[in-house]
Parts: sequence; structure tokens; C-alpha cells
Amino acid sequence: MDLVIDGRWIYYPLSGEVINNGRIVIEEKKIIYSGPRGKESDKKAGHEYYNFEKGLVIPGLINAHTHIPMTLQRGISENKSLQTWLQHIWSIEPNLLPEDAYWGTMLGIAEMLAGGTIGFNDQYFYSDQIARAIHETGIKAVLAPSIFFAGNPESNSMEEAFKHAKNVHDKWNGNNNRLYVAFGPHAPYTVGKEWFQTIANEARDRGTNIHTHLNETEYEVNESQKTHSLRPIEWMDKIGVLETINSAAHCVHLSQAERDLLKKYRVNVLHCPKSNAKIGTGIADTPRLLKENINVCLATDGQASNNKLDMFEEMSFEALIHKAVYKDPTVVTSTEVVRMATCNAQTLFPKNCYSGTLLENTRADLTVLDLDSPGTTPVIDPVSHLCYAIGREQVVMTIIDGSIVYQNGKFLTLDITKVKNEAQRVTNRLLETTSSD
Ligand SMILES: [Zn+2]
Repeated sequence: MDLVIDGRWIYYPLSGEVINNGRIVIEEKKIIYSGPRGKESDKKAGHEYYNFEKGLVIPGLINAHTHIPMTLQRGISENKSLQTWLQHIWSIEPNLLPEDAYWGTMLGIAEMLAGGTIGFNDQYFYSDQIARAIHETGIKAVLAPSIFFAGNPESNSMEEAFKHAKNVHDKWNGNNNRLYVAFGPHAPYTVGKEWFQTIANEARDRGTNIHTHLNETEYEVNESQKTHSLRPIEWMDKIGVLETINSAAHCVHLSQAERDLLKKYRVNVLHCPKSNAKIGTGIADTPRLLKENINVCLATDGQASNNKLDMFEEMSFEALIHKAVYKDPTVVTSTEVVRMATCNAQTLFPKNCYSGTLLENTRADLTVLDLDSPGTTPVIDPVSHLCYAIGREQVVMTIIDGSIVYQNGKFLTLDITKVKNEAQRVTNRLLETTSSD
């Protein structure tokens, strides 16, 4: 379907520019015109036309670190430290069935599409079922099948988990040019040297990369220093795997040497401010990372530690938290925060899959927000609104690769009633089969 989208405002995060009365023309999954309305971009016959009189058009958002079937565990484990929280989660996850992961993913995808998120970067078990849900719903994703042992419901050994990951790569990588597969060794402390090196070699051979958790807690850093006499990222470098890590979730506790290594190997930091706050692990120093030219992407983490997949709330929290920590309102700007949820995420995907820019000749991934509400009136600065006034309830249209997947409360690629019912059903079964904590 070719589309013409007219918006009252169009926001281009790369330049930070907002234009008034803009137009985006979409043909064959791509943006072929993006700019002011004018005769060079007149509506063409055969194009479906939408005019949003109070609409703000932004690039579709990317959630850079998820464990998507964990929608089923939303609210299951509260007020616990990471290590205690993990033990609780790892006591539940072995009871997950493949169909649970499918319904948990469908629910997560529905939540994201309704919130203007058009893609995610995931690390979890049952990637085959997650991939099926992605295939059906039209969302974009990079899946990194989790390769580790604790809590793993589908594999009884590292060998088996690794084999599953390779099978998922064989079967799904490149599917519809919007689903890609990486490898997900969970973390240095759960995987170990030999396996990390084996997985990194396989990733290199296949031309893919690694998505892992690094430096999330002080405990993890201290343990690494005790065991290896090195901090986790230094150790990853020493054993020769850091260059294959494209996605490093958290990076809350970093030394200068580790920041230098992240920069040297162009590792993307996946920043989960709300999850880190909720688990009490601290807050990654993203103003400093940005200053040192390290790429930062914004993410929610899994729903057992957030408990939402809401990138607008994540942007708002990110825009506020560093100002409080630094006691300085200038340390991070709205433009920088919106970039973390859009164009900074380009490098999570293979080239030309996602741009997050709304520029011409890029894939047509758009979110339209209706600002005709009391809480978003008046509109003085739409970029300020993105961080401080807009909520996901303002999303009226979500477009992925030129296809409308969500519009005015309606999901065009999934049956939301069935998804909600099935998600509650499988969660009830999961709770019945798990002894209470
Ligand atoms: Zn995580």
C-alpha cells in the first residue's frame, strides 16, 4: 500500500529539526518524499491519504533490550535485589512451554505497536516461537536466542542451547528483511570463557554478533575482579570476544578503561534506566557515555523488572533521572533522549533495515501522535512534549515498512482479544505449576 501522511509537525531526530505542515510519501516500503507540503509531492492517484491536523509524526521507536515473553511475568517479583530477583525468575522459567512464549510475545508486540514501538532487540529462550509471532505481526526485531543454563526451559545443557541458537539463525535470519538473528550468551558470569569464545567464533563465522548483559551490578563487577582480576568488559576484551558484542545491556558500573574499550569496539550500550532503578542496581552514566561518543540506545528490559514496554515513559524517565543525579538540568537534552529511542538504534540492525530518521530513501517506519488532548495543549515545542508531556495513549498510527499495523486502537495484524485471553490463560497455568515464593 502506498501512502501519503500529512502531519501538523514532522520531527527529524538526526538534525533535531521540526517542520510545520509536513508530508511523507511512502512507496514500496520506503519513504520517497519527506518534507514540506508542495507541488513536487502532490498526492498521487492510488495512494491512501491521511491528514493529521494535530498530528506529530516521528520515526517509529525501537526498544533496544527486551525479554519479550516476560510479559507473562509482569508484576511477579517485586522489591528484590537482582541476584534474589534472578533466583525467583529462574524458578519460574523452567515451567514455560513453547506456546507460552508465543502468547507472551504476541502480548508484548501488541503493547509495543500500540505504543508506537516498531522494533525490538531481544534476548530470550524459545526464539523459534518469538520469531513466529514477529513473522505474523509485521514488527521488526533482532533476536538473540539466550545461551545459558539457569532457568532455561528449552535446553538441558549449554550444548543444546547453542544448537537451538544456530537452528534459529538458520531458519529465521533475514526473514522478510525485518527479522534478524544474533547470539545471546546471557552474561560473562553465567556463560564462562570457553563457551563465550565458542559462541563469538560462531557469530563471526555467520556474520552476526552478540547481545549480552554487561556490568549491571556492583556485585557482578566485584565478583569478576575476584575471579579474573579484571572487570567484566576488560575480561571480555582479554578473552577476545568484545569485538563481536554489538549489544551490551546495562553498563551501569563502568571504569574509564571499560568506556574506552566500548568506544574502541563500537559496542552499543543498551540503557534500561527504569529497570535499573526498579532493581536498585544504580543508573548508567549516559551523559558521560554520550560525551565520549559511545552509542546509547534506550530500552525497557523485561516486564518483570519494568513493568511496561512503554518507550515514551522510558524517554521521560531518562530525560529526568540524570538531571536529578547530576543536579544539573543541562546534562541531557530532549533531542538526545529521542535519538536514543530512534536513530541511535540503526546500528542494532543490519544496514538499511531501520534508519529512525524519516529521511528519504529509508524504510518507512513511522509513529503518528495526536496532540489534540488537554495534556498536550498548547504545543510550543513538540520535542519537549515527546519527553515531558506525551504518553503512549497519544499514538494513533504505527507504520512498519510502509504497512499500517496499528490505527486508532485497532490492531491490523493480530486479534487482540484472543491475545489477551491466551496470555492470561497461560500465565494462570504458569502460576499454578510454580510453587509460590
Ligand atoms: Zn536483560
